[in-house]
Amino acid sequence: MPFEALGLDPKIAKAVREAGYTEPTPIQTKAIPLVLRGSDVIGIAQTGTGKTAAFVLPILQRLSARGSATNRRCMRALVIAPTRELVVQIEENVRKYARHLHLRIATVYGGVGERPQIQALRAGTEIVIATPGRLIDLMDQGHVDFSGLEVAVLDEADRMLDMGFLPAMRRIVKALPKQRQTMMFSATLSKEIETLTNEFLSNAETVQIGRRANPAELVTQFVYETTKEAKLPLLLHLLRDETLDSVLVFSRTKHGADKIARKLASSGINTATLHSNRSQSQRIAALKAFKAGTVRVLVATDIAARGIDVEGISHVVNYDFPPQPEDYVHRIGRTGRAKAVGDAISFVTPDDRGNLRDLERFISRGIPRKVAEGFDASAYKAVAAPLTSWRPSRPQVRNSAPRPPRPSSYGSSRPASPSQSRPSSGNGRTAVNSRPQFSDRGRRRP
Ligand code: AMP
Repeated sequence: MPFEALGLDPKIAKAVREAGYTEPTPIQTKAIPLVLRGSDVIGIAQTGTGKTAAFVLPILQRLSARGSATNRRCMRALVIAPTRELVVQIEENVRKYARHLHLRIATVYGGVGERPQIQALRAGTEIVIATPGRLIDLMDQGHVDFSGLEVAVLDEADRMLDMGFLPAMRRIVKALPKQRQTMMFSATLSKEIETLTNEFLSNAETVQIGRRANPAELVTQFVYETTKEAKLPLLLHLLRDETLDSVLVFSRTKHGADKIARKLASSGINTATLHSNRSQSQRIAALKAFKAGTVRVLVATDIAARGIDVEGISHVVNYDFPPQPEDYVHRIGRTGRAKAVGDAISFVTPDDRGNLRDLERFISRGIPRKVAEGFDASAYKAVAAPLTSWRPSRPQVRNSAPRPPRPSSYGSSRPASPSQSRPSSGNGRTAVNSRPQFSDRGRRRP
């Protein structure tokens, strides 16, 4: 189906084609007509589904339809997102889709000087994309005029709640005109999100893509059991495989991220870090180098990497296993985007076992265990006895992912001792995913 069939202006459809999109994604097919009708919309969708264009395209249509020449220069659309990186990314998308329109776009986020942002707001700009904190600062200083606002979007609302932005979101929404269109996007539909929906939206239509908490469909996931001491050597070992050509590594702490990056860099691997101790310009430079492919490994903390969109990430490595299943789902959503192939690798130490089980319960499937070919973990410290994968105690309502014939095949066929490393083929992976087996060597991405 062409984009015009959704009711989009030819100038917008042209820009979308130039961006290389041939047809709308499911969330775009569902949401765009609703937004064009003026409905409030709740979008439940993972990142990577094309949700940004799902709200940006109809907003552009609305703003351009009632030509800017006749309008006062004022803020007509506001997008709130949890992090600076996400704001910059949304802005890039908006500029791409609005290239044949005459609209002014501004961003508002912390970590950089306020002056240019204040000037842009004062000069008048139709679309503002902002993080909650800096927007509130500028509101408090009297630089923000919401009187002409028509549309508001709260993107990654669940993340904003996690990050403690609820009071800021409330303050911002309260300052907006009552008569407006509101959209809210979230990866999952929790009780808290439902409550917010009732508070911020009216007669909202819900658009849900994929199942609740389902990790990105295209991502193949597996787990390496390891010890704390063997993690860095294991990462270095895996990186010998050149098919891991664009790797996002998640570290729990900033300090840990720096340590991993130092070690990789000293081993000759081009590495950058992304965390909040780095200046905004350093973060932008790191992302740019990673996107350009000059940096092979980007080591990031959860907060800093939230929502970042880099095409062609080949692998996500959960160097530190995330304690929250939701974070895992977000992390692995960084790969497998827009039909790319992506693998999510998790390092699991004995301390992470409880969290791994919780995650498997959360996503209703076991994650295959894998042994790194040619890697002798015992040289660093013995790994604990193998753990078996969680499996449901009775049949459950299944999502569309094919079930393994015998769930026990995930964990039980592994070697009894870590030093008995052996080829990993047949290690249960095909049981959950029909894609070709991952081999530590020689895998080629299409
Ligand atoms: P999002 O879920 O908004 O973060 O989008 C994920 C990725 O999908 C981005 O790189 C977009 O550029 C890309 N994308 C969005 N819509 C489409 C489409 N209709 N066809 C192909 N790629 C798309």
